[in-house]
This record gives sequence, structure tokens and C-alpha cells, in this order.
Amino acid sequence: MSDIYDLVKRYPWLPSLKTYYSDMASKDPLNFIKEIFTSDNFKNLKIKTLNIFNDAFNNIEEISDYDFDETNIYIYLILRILLYILNNKILSNRVANIYSKTTYNELNKENEYNLYYIYKDLDLEVLYEDFQTIYKKIVVKGQQEIYKTNFKISYIDYLKLASNLKDDYRKLVNNALRQGYVYIKPENLNRLLQEHVRMKLLAQKIVDSTNLNKFKEKLFEVQEFKDLYDSISEIWESKKEEFEYSLDITYKEGKDISKSFPPCIKEVITKAQEGQNLIHTERLFILWVLNALKYPEEKIVNVFSTLPDFDREKTAYQVKYAIKKGYTPYSCKSLKSYTLCMANKYKDKLCLEGYFSKKLQEQRQITHPMFYINLKQNKSTTKKNPEKKLNEKDG
Ligand code: SF4
Repeated sequence: MSDIYDLVKRYPWLPSLKTYYSDMASKDPLNFIKEIFTSDNFKNLKIKTLNIFNDAFNNIEEISDYDFDETNIYIYLILRILLYILNNKILSNRVANIYSKTTYNELNKENEYNLYYIYKDLDLEVLYEDFQTIYKKIVVKGQQEIYKTNFKISYIDYLKLASNLKDDYRKLVNNALRQGYVYIKPENLNRLLQEHVRMKLLAQKIVDSTNLNKFKEKLFEVQEFKDLYDSISEIWESKKEEFEYSLDITYKEGKDISKSFPPCIKEVITKAQEGQNLIHTERLFILWVLNALKYPEEKIVNVFSTLPDFDREKTAYQVKYAIKKGYTPYSCKSLKSYTLCMANKYKDKLCLEGYFSKKLQEQRQITHPMFYINLKQNKSTTKKNPEKKLNEKDG
């Protein structure tokens, strides 16, 4: 069993950081950077910080060199400052994802005592019971699965932690709720903490860019820190393009068909590119769309690799399963019922006004995103080759 002092080194986002490392945590960021980047440790810190950015840029799923000493605290604080001044959504999401995922994996290795102290330090109303409670029984392929746990969390804290994760199975009604407490396995609670840590790294919104620039200038007076910032910016410049096209949406027969995507598809793809969470329905939708467009299995798996909770093995299995079953993507009607239709948000003319059907001699509404793609593709082919008649199909 570790004491909270050690746990803070492992998890510097814990509130006790302020108690046990008050000198470090409450220091003015400028002084903090000055101090550590002129210390003997600066080379080590620079290498480790750069490694995290490199891992994030290369879409590695876990930080390759994660230590449990005080260095970890420094790294966490440096990351927060860097993400703030870099002010780049994609980059911040990538770093926050890899960092929070590493945290999740580390939390899952902790024993129950340590976990209990971690939950308590976060001021969560979590109770540990000596005897496990069976809170769910389901039958899968004729086999009964029993869910039991020693942990329960007050529904208020559960809701706070789960507020960013919109999946149905996380809703309170779909969880074992008794007398104000949700029964939960530690790994599921840790997944909620992963999101908490991710949000902590992303939480710093820039309100005033003049202040940000002044702050940067001050920080850059520390040459070693400026060098680190420049190295990160340099790697980002070289990777940027690759990042923006990491979904390889140009696959189809060597053509870039991304311009033909309707707003509902664009929206989910952008979220995935930025490394944001996707709810289950969004994941299924994009998986079925890419499958319908005949994207290779491996490429579909890679689309999901930027997500905060990406698990290659699980995703590969789900993709294989969906391909085998040949599911078709949701229609506009279903997408509207799932609030995934983005016609209004993108003010898309084709989605909002429909198209003129020559065959029926009337204005028709778009009923399926795949039909939208077909229509756009046919139009662009006709534009390039006016001889070619528009082979128009109704959706
Ligand atoms: S109208 Fe259909 S294709 Fe267009 S954004 Fe909505 S759901 Fe997607």
C-alpha cells in the first residue's frame, strides 16, 4: 500500500499535489519554468517531454517512458503550460489522450487500497464494502455473466464524472443504482477518471490572445524552454499534414472523396481527427460508412486510433464483425433521431433543400448520407466531363 505522498508522484493531477508539493504547485508558472529549466534536471525533462509529444504525434497508445518519481510531477506541470501556449486543439487532444490513457492503464494496476485513497483524494463519495455486491447478471451465448464489485459511488459524483461521456450504457438508468449509489467496478470508475484527467489537460481556454502572447514572450526568455517549444513546433509542422489526413479519406480509387461527404459524416470524422470522444452510435455510423465505401479493414481500425479509449484489439474485432455482418449505415431519418444530422449546423444546401430529380421531375429530400455522396460524386464527374450524363438515382 502506498501513501498519498507517493500516489501524487504517480498521479500529479490529484488535489493533494497542492498539499504535498505546495512549493511546486502554487509557484507562478514563469518562476516555475525559470527554475526547472535552469536546474541540472532540465535535459532529462526536455527529453521526456519531447518523447510524450513524439508518442502523441506518432499515435502511440501509451507513453513509452512514464516514471513514478518527482519528474512525473514536473512533466505534468510542463505539459499543462505547453498545451496552454501551443493553443492547438488537435495537438492538445492528442497529448491529453495519450497522457490520460496512460493514467488509466496505471490506475488499473493499483490495488484497491490505493484506488480508494485516490478516489477519496478527488473528494469523490466512494464507498468500499468488505463483501462484493452482485449488481448485474446477463446471459451471453448461453453463459451467465455475473458482475460484482466492492465499490459504489454516489450518483451525483457519478453524473459529474460521466457528463462528457454520452454513451447510453453510462446513463444512470442503465446502471445499478441503489439508495443513491451506483455500483461500479474499479476499471469502469478508472475510465471515468481517465476522462477527468483528459479534461484537466484540455481545460485551459484562451480568453485573451494578447495576454497569451505576453505570457509566451516572458516564458521564452528562458532559452532552454524556448528550444523545447521550438522543437515541438518543428515536429508539428512536419507532421501536421499527415495528421490532417490521418483518416486517409482519399482512399477510394485514389480519389479524394472527402469533399463529397455530407455534414453528418464530416462532423464525426472531424471529431475523430481531433481525438475527441465519440459516442457508440457515432462509432458505428462511421464504421458502417467506411465499410460501405469499401475502405480496407486496417484503415478503418486506424480511423479510431486517435480516440481517447482506443483499444486496437477490441476495435479490430468489432470492425471485422461489422464487415462480416454487412451492416448498412444509418439513414437520414435514423441520424436525425440520434441528433447526428448536422445539416443545420453546416447550413448544407443539398441536405436542407434537397435536389431536383429529373426522373420524377420533382424536388426530393436527401434520405441517406450514402446517396448524398453518390449525388455529389456524380455531379463532380459530370462537371469535369460534361459529355457524361448524370446517372441519377433516387435515395
Ligand atoms: S440530411 Fe442526411 S445526409 Fe444530410 S447531414 Fe442530415 S443525416 Fe446527414
